[in-house]
Amino acid sequence: MTKQHLIETERPLTDLKGVGPQTVLKLNDLGLFTMSDIIMHLPYRYEDETVIDINEATDGDKITVTGEIYSTPRVSYFGRSKSKIMFHMLVDGVAIRVEYFNQPYIKHQVNLGDTATVSGKWQRSKQIIQGTKFSKEVASSENALVPQYSLKGLVKPKQFQKFVHQAFQSTEITPMIPGYLMDKYKLWDLKESLETLHFPRDYHALKQAKRTFAFCELFLFQLKMRMLNQTEHAAGLSVSIDYDIQAVKAFIETLPFELTDAQKKVVNEIFRDIKLPMRMNRLLQGDVGSGKTVVAAIAMYALLTAGYQSALMVPTEILAEQHAESLAGLYGDQVRVALLTSSVKGKRRRILLEQLAAGEIDVIVGTHALIQDEVIFHRLGLVITDEQHRFGVNQRKRLREKGDDANVLFMTATPIPRTLAISVFGEMDVSSIKELPKGRKPIETSWAKHEEMGTVLAQTKQEIAKGRQAYVICPLIEASEKLDVQNAVEIYETFKGHFGERVGLLHGRMSSEEKDEVMEKFSRHELDVLVSTTVVEVGVNVPNATMMIIIDAERFGLSTLHQLRGRVGRSSHQSYCVLISNPSTETGIERMQIMCQTTDGFLLSEKDLEMRGPGDFFGVKQSGLPDFKVANIVEDYRMLEVARDEASEMILSGKIDEPENVWLKKRMLLEVSTLEID
Ligand code: ADP
Ligand code: MG
Repeated sequence: MTKQHLIETERPLTDLKGVGPQTVLKLNDLGLFTMSDIIMHLPYRYEDETVIDINEATDGDKITVTGEIYSTPRVSYFGRSKSKIMFHMLVDGVAIRVEYFNQPYIKHQVNLGDTATVSGKWQRSKQIIQGTKFSKEVASSENALVPQYSLKGLVKPKQFQKFVHQAFQSTEITPMIPGYLMDKYKLWDLKESLETLHFPRDYHALKQAKRTFAFCELFLFQLKMRMLNQTEHAAGLSVSIDYDIQAVKAFIETLPFELTDAQKKVVNEIFRDIKLPMRMNRLLQGDVGSGKTVVAAIAMYALLTAGYQSALMVPTEILAEQHAESLAGLYGDQVRVALLTSSVKGKRRRILLEQLAAGEIDVIVGTHALIQDEVIFHRLGLVITDEQHRFGVNQRKRLREKGDDANVLFMTATPIPRTLAISVFGEMDVSSIKELPKGRKPIETSWAKHEEMGTVLAQTKQEIAKGRQAYVICPLIEASEKLDVQNAVEIYETFKGHFGERVGLLHGRMSSEEKDEVMEKFSRHELDVLVSTTVVEVGVNVPNATMMIIIDAERFGLSTLHQLRGRVGRSSHQSYCVLISNPSTETGIERMQIMCQTTDGFLLSEKDLEMRGPGDFFGVKQSGLPDFKVANIVEDYRMLEVARDEASEMILSGKIDEPENVWLKKRMLLEVSTLEID
C-alpha cells in the first residue's frame, strides 16, 4: 500500500518533551518515527462520553453520567482471576448500581460521598450500569468525543494526546490543497482539520474536519494518478501507427457476425489511441462472452496493416492454446499466428523465435514465456494482456518494453466498479463493453439448499442425457488446502457414485500437467462432469458445458460467482447455474438472491464492492489502493469523482504550473517516480 504524506515536516521524536529512548522505541513499534507520523496517527473511532441525563437514556446504550457515590464498594472474587466491584450512585435523582468486572483496583478510588463520572452500558430495567470507565473528574456535558487510537497498549491514550499536542506546536503544516479549491469546496485549513480530528470540539466540527481531510487524500491521490498517466503516455511520444482503415474494414466484413454497438465504440477508442502519437494505456472490461477477444483481433489486425507485430499474453497454457486457435480461425491465412508457451521446446522453439525476430510472425499468443529475455520482436507495436489481474505491473511492463513504446491494452472479464476503476486504474483509460451479442440465451440461475441436492443431480442427469456437460465447483475454505482437497475428493466420489467414470477432478495440489490433462479431457468431452476447486481457469471455453453447480456458494463473493457462472452459456443451448447453499447470514441470503435476479456483471461488481469493501474486492495488495486514513472510496464516491475531475482540470488548465503550485507539482512528481502499484 502506498503511504500518503500530507505534511512536510520530518522532525525526530526526540524533540518531544518527556519522551525518553524507551518511549521512542515504543512509538517506533507503532510505525511512528517523526512528528508528522504522530500527527498523522489519527483516531480510528470516537467514543461519545458526553454526560447525559440518566432519565433520558435508552436501555442498552453506552452512556456517561455524573453522580454521588452513596455506598462503600464491595469486591467479590470468583474463579482464579475474575472479580466484580459494585457500588451505588445517585444520578439525576435516580439510585443506580454500578458494576465493573475484573477491575478491582478501582476500589481505591471509590469513596463514599465523592462525585464521580462513570461510563458503561445502561440496563434500564435493573437500573445497572455495566461500567467500562471510571473517573473522579466531573466531566462536562460538552466536548466529550473521546478519540480512540490504535496504540497496542504500548502508550497510554492520554500520553499520546500530549505528544500530539506538542507535535502540533513544533510542526509547520503546509496546506496541500491549492487555495482556489479550498475556497470552492469550503474546505478547512489542513492544520485546523488535523487538530479537530485529534481534539474534536463536537460532532459538527468533526464532520467538517473529516470532509476536508478526505478531500485532501482523494485529491492528492487522483493528482498523482493523473500525473502518472501523463508520464506513461509521454513515454511513448513518438509512435503513431498508420493502419490501413480500408483493409481493416474489409477484415471486419469477413467476420461471421456484425459487431455490437459496444464493440464498435471500443474499436474506435482503440484506433484513436493507436493513431495518436503517444502510447495507448487502456483497460478493456466486459463480461465473459461480450466479445473482447474479437476486438483484440481487430486491433492486432490493424497493427499488421501498418507493419507491426502484436502480442497477446494470457495467464495459462490452455487459454493460450484456445486463443491461438480462435484467432487462427478468425484470420484465416491472412495473418501468421504463433503460439509460445513453455511446452514449445527445442528446435520448434528456436525456429519460432527466429521467425519472430525476423518479422515472419504477425501475432504471437503466449503465457509469461513471452517476457523471457530470449524473446525478441522484429517490431512490436501492441501488447494485449487478458485477465490482467493475474499479471503484476512488472510483468506487463517487461512485455511492453519489448517493443519501443508499444501500445498496451489490458482486458478483463471482472468488471471493475466505477469507483475502483477511477481510483485504482486512474492512470489508465477505461473502455467497457456492457452489451452481449444478440441472440444469447441468458443463463438461468437458481438457488437450492443442500437437502435439495437430489433434484440438482436429477437435473444434471437430464443435461448429460442431452449430450451436455457440467462443472461442479467446491469452494476454497482458506483454513487449509488439505481440507479443501479432501472436500473436493468427497464431492468427486459422490458424483462418481451417480455418473460413473466420466467424472474428472481438478484441485490445487495437482501439477499443472495433471490439471491440463484433465481440462483437455473435459474439453474433448471425454468427461461429462468436472469437479473442481476454484482452480478452473478463468476464461476457459467449453461451449458444450451448460451446467454450473456451485457448492457452498455463500462462501464466494458476487464477482467470483459471476465469473464462475460465465463458464457456461457459451453456445446456443440453454445453460443453468445452480447455487447450493444454506447461508446462515443475511448477507449470504442477499448474495444468493441477487445472483438469481441478475446476470449484469457491472451491477454485481458494484454490489460486491458495497458488501465486501474495497480491500477484499481484489485483495488489498493487488488493488494498489492507498491506505486512506479518513476517505472511504465507497462512501465518499461522489467526492472521489469531484477530486478526479479537479485533478484533471488542474493539469489540463496548466494551473499545476502556476508559481503557487510549484511545490505541489514537485512533490507529486517525486511520488509518481516512486509509486508502487502492486
Ligand atoms: P470474450 O473474450 O469477451 O469472452 P469473445 O470475443 O471470446 O468474448 O466472444 C465470445 C463468443 O461470441 C465468440 O464465439 C465470438 O465469436 C462471439 N461473438 C463475438 N462478438 C460477436 C457479435 N458481435 N455477434 C455475435 N457473436 C459474437
Ligand atoms: Mg476472452
